[in-house]
Amino acid sequence: MTTFYPGPAKIYPQVADYLQDAYRSGILSSNHRSESFMQICQKTLDLLHKKLNIPADYAIVFVSSATECWEIITQSFTEKNSLHLYNGAFGEKWFDYAQHIKPTTQAHFFDLETRLEIPESIYQPECLCLTQNETSNGTRLNTEQLTFLRTDFPNTLIAYDVTSALGGVDLPMKAGDIWFASVQKCLGLPAGLGLLIVSPRAIAKAKQINDRKYYNSFLFMLENIQKFQTHHTPNVLGIYLLMRVLEQVESIQTEAKILCQRAEIYYNFFEKHAFFKPLVKNKAVRSATVMCVEGSESHIATVKTEAEKAGIILGNGYGIWKNTTFRIANFPQISENEIEKLLYFFQTFNL
Ligand SMILES: *Cc1c(COP(=O)(O)O)cnc(C)c1O
Repeated sequence: MTTFYPGPAKIYPQVADYLQDAYRSGILSSNHRSESFMQICQKTLDLLHKKLNIPADYAIVFVSSATECWEIITQSFTEKNSLHLYNGAFGEKWFDYAQHIKPTTQAHFFDLETRLEIPESIYQPECLCLTQNETSNGTRLNTEQLTFLRTDFPNTLIAYDVTSALGGVDLPMKAGDIWFASVQKCLGLPAGLGLLIVSPRAIAKAKQINDRKYYNSFLFMLENIQKFQTHHTPNVLGIYLLMRVLEQVESIQTEAKILCQRAEIYYNFFEKHAFFKPLVKNKAVRSATVMCVEGSESHIATVKTEAEKAGIILGNGYGIWKNTTFRIANFPQISENEIEKLLYFFQTFNL
C-alpha cells in the first residue's frame, strides 16, 4: 500500500534500518542524563538548526506533540490572552484549547479563499496564533504574508503551527517567535515527538511570565535542553530516528523546491480532471504540502474505495470538508514513483 495520508504519513523507508541501529547501539537502554544521550540530543539540535535553517539564537525543545504546544503557548508565553486567526479545523482546535485555559482568548475567522487581512479593530495583541499550513483545507500563509505580519505586529509574539510544513517548506523563521510541529508529517517519522522552536524574544517573555506550574512549563524544558537534557524521560527512540533522518535529508531549500514543483504538477493535473478539482481556487493561498481535492460526495466515496483496490490510500477530508474532499500529502518522503502511480490511477479513473 502507498499512503498519501497527511498524517500520520508515510515514514521514510530508511527508518526500518535506523530502528535496528537504535536497538543495536544500546541507546534505548541508556539513561537520559548519560553522555551518550546528551551527544545524540546535541547532534539532533545541531542538525535541526542546520538542515531546517533555524536561527542559531532560537531554542528548540522536545515535546510529545503539536497539541501539547497549543497548551504550552497559553501557559508559558501568554499573560492575559492570545488572538487566534484561523480558516480551518486545526486553527479552530488550537483556539479551543487556549480558551479552556484562558477564557478571554480571542478569535477571528477568515475565509478559505481570501488572503488573511487583519481587521482594523485588532490592535497589537499580546500573542498572535496562526496556523501557517492548515492541514484540514490545504491552505497556507506564504512567506510574503508572514513577513508583513512581522512588520505589522512588531511587539507581538507571533506563534505559528507548522505541523504539516516543517521539513517541507522553507519557512522565514525570523518572521515568527514560536514555531512548532510534530514529526509524523513532513519529517517522515513515526508519531510521538514534537518540536517547539522559540525566539530570544519569546524566551524573554517566558522568563518575565515565569510560569513554573506545570510539568511542561517552558522554562523547565529550556533549562534542561541547555544541558542537552530533557525535563522528563524523553522519547529517546523518536529523537534518535529524527537525528538519522535529518542526516539523510537535503537542506530545506532543496526539499522545498522539489515539493513546490510537485505541487504545481498536482494542481495543474486536478484543474483539468473530469470529476475532481482543487478545493482552493485562489492559487496564492494554496498549500504546497497538503492538497485538498474536491468532488461530489459519491465521487469522493467511490474514488477512495477504488484507490484502495489499486494499492493507494488517499487522505480523508477533514472537518466540514470530510465527505466532499480527499487530501494528498505532498511530503518529501514520498517518492517520484509513488506520485506517478497516483497520477496514473487518476488518469485512468472512470465512473
Ligand atoms: C496534525 C496536526 C496537528 C496535531 O498534531 P499532533 O502531533 O497530533 O498533536 C496540529 N496542527 C496541525 C496543523 C496539524 O496538521
